[in-house]
Amino acid sequence: MTVLADRFGRHFPYLRLSLIEACNFSCSYCLPDGYKADPDAPGLLRIDEIERLLRAFARVGLRKLRLTGGEPTLRRDLTAIIATAAKIPGIQTLAMTTNGCLLRKRRADWQAAGLNALNVSVDSLDRQRFAAITGHDRLPDILAGIDEALADGFPVLKLNAVLLRGLNDEQMPAWLDYLRERPIAVRFIELMRTGTNLEYFQRHHLRAQGLEDDLQARGWSLLPRAPAAGPAREYGHPDYRGRIGIIAPYSRDFCAGCNRLRVTARGDLRLCLFGNIGIPLRPQLQSDDDADALQASLLSQLGLKAAGHGLHEGNTGLTPHLASIGG
Ligand code: SAM
Ligand code: SF4
Repeated sequence: MTVLADRFGRHFPYLRLSLIEACNFSCSYCLPDGYKADPDAPGLLRIDEIERLLRAFARVGLRKLRLTGGEPTLRRDLTAIIATAAKIPGIQTLAMTTNGCLLRKRRADWQAAGLNALNVSVDSLDRQRFAAITGHDRLPDILAGIDEALADGFPVLKLNAVLLRGLNDEQMPAWLDYLRERPIAVRFIELMRTGTNLEYFQRHHLRAQGLEDDLQARGWSLLPRAPAAGPAREYGHPDYRGRIGIIAPYSRDFCAGCNRLRVTARGDLRLCLFGNIGIPLRPQLQSDDDADALQASLLSQLGLKAAGHGLHEGNTGLTPHLASIGG
């Protein structure tokens, strides 16, 4: 099988597909003023377009699909999209990243349709802090949804927390309590600078190194990296059932292990979260007859993927905020 590879020898079995840019939350680092619709934007990818897209990616080695957004659970046809993706041969991991607002109501439907991995964003375990960061007082409901998923044995469950200086950086004891008995991984993600959050970034960006030093001092140790693992550095501790991952996009070599591509909710291929080009795939998603042409475009576009992002130089590329592309 021909697989997607770039000129730096990296392979791309992982696609993050944004289903929608809209979001009902207003996280202070992402959409501080809430989502504002663009009345001139073309419609979102339809299910038939999504199916052709995924079949083309599957033919060139797609193994892991993550549905994201904006808030993907705002799509009314989400369960049907999951079911469509689940029947495409080759996709082994069918994941979604969500703010958790519909976890309690819909998780069983998504699971029955074939979803087998979930990342839920929980920036703070403190109810007031959570409400201040996200603009919504929903923490108890979201945490209950996570515990229900754990009790039902949902296959892979992870939490995402963006590290924010002065907003959620003194909560390690609460996280350690949380992880003692829960077999769940929390990922602390360094805040990334985007096109619209420069001032916020300067105020709240916190390097993950201090947190890693703290973990090691508390007896947590770095776990060996699995061969197909993503960019997280994972820590474990014999007294805890949970694990802690660190995602540090500003660290050296972060891009060397890149294994993912992105497609926006309107069908543009993005080679990098912070790249300068979006390649419209939509014209080739209208008919099954275009499958070969679509596959050929995917293979040739990969030649344009750069070695790394330009964040160190302050270049955030086309990304005004992560909701626009699928974080
Ligand atoms: N709405 C869903 C959610 O929040 O989980 C999915 C989309 S959101 C853009 C995906 C992930 O990106 C979330 O975990 C969010 O916290 C993270 N994120 C958003 N903006 C970020 C930034 N500037 N730096 C680091 N992570 C960010
Ligand atoms: Fe919405 Fe997710 Fe952005 Fe928060 S991080 S505003 S939940 S898209």
